[in-house]
Amino acid sequence: MNNNVKVLIAVVALAAAGFLIVRSLGGKGDGVQSGRHVNYFICADPKCATEFEVEPGHSQAPPGSPSEVCPKCGKTYPTPAAKCPSCGRLAPLEGHGLVPATCPYCSKPMQPEKG
Ligand SMILES: [Zn+2]
Ligand SMILES: [Zn+2]
Repeated sequence: MNNNVKVLIAVVALAAAGFLIVRSLGGKGDGVQSGRHVNYFICADPKCATEFEVEPGHSQAPPGSPSEVCPKCGKTYPTPAAKCPSCGRLAPLEGHGLVPATCPYCSKPMQPEKG
C-alpha cells in the first residue's frame, strides 16, 4: 500500500518541477511584448534638469551607486517622471508615484483615455 504514496509523491514532484520550469520560462519576455517599458527620470538639479530614461536591467548607474545617475551631470537621486504622450516631454510624478493628470508643458492629458 506504500506504492500509492510513492506514486503520489512522484506525481507531485513532477508537477512542482514542471510548474517551476514553466514559471521561469514564462516570467521573462511578457513585458517586452506588451511594449517597451522604461523608467523616466528628471535630474534633481534644477540647473541641469536633464530628462533621461532607463531601461530596467540597463541602469546607467555605476555598481554600488544608491540610485540612478544623471547622464549629464552625474548627480544621483533623479526625480521619477512619466512621458507625455502628446509632446514627449517628461513630467515629474506626483506624490506616491502618480502620473499627473495633465502635462505641465502642453496641458494635454497624460493618461491614455479609457474605453
Ligand atoms: Zn543632471
Ligand atoms: Zn505634454
